[in-house]
Amino acid sequence: MPDRRATQETARIDLENGFTMHDYRTKLKLLKDSGTTRTLENREGLLCPACGREFDRLFVTEEETTTFETPAERPFCLARTDEKLLLCTH
Ligand SMILES: [Zn+2]
Repeated sequence: MPDRRATQETARIDLENGFTMHDYRTKLKLLKDSGTTRTLENREGLLCPACGREFDRLFVTEEETTTFETPAERPFCLARTDEKLLLCTH
């Protein structure tokens, strides 16, 4: 049995070497995919790379700009890698 703290540690999304959803394939459910922009649902209690709390949805884009037509109704965090911008809603 791994100890609880070690498990929590690995549940946090790690951006050190960039982000690829394939690293978290079993934990994130793909809701929308336009090729360069994806919306994912957190199924397994992954933790936000910014604040370390569990998030609800993860939005990932490789585009330079993104527009949201509807305001986020919940707190959200931003994180970035060299290629991607991530938005986690809580
Ligand atoms: Zn967060």
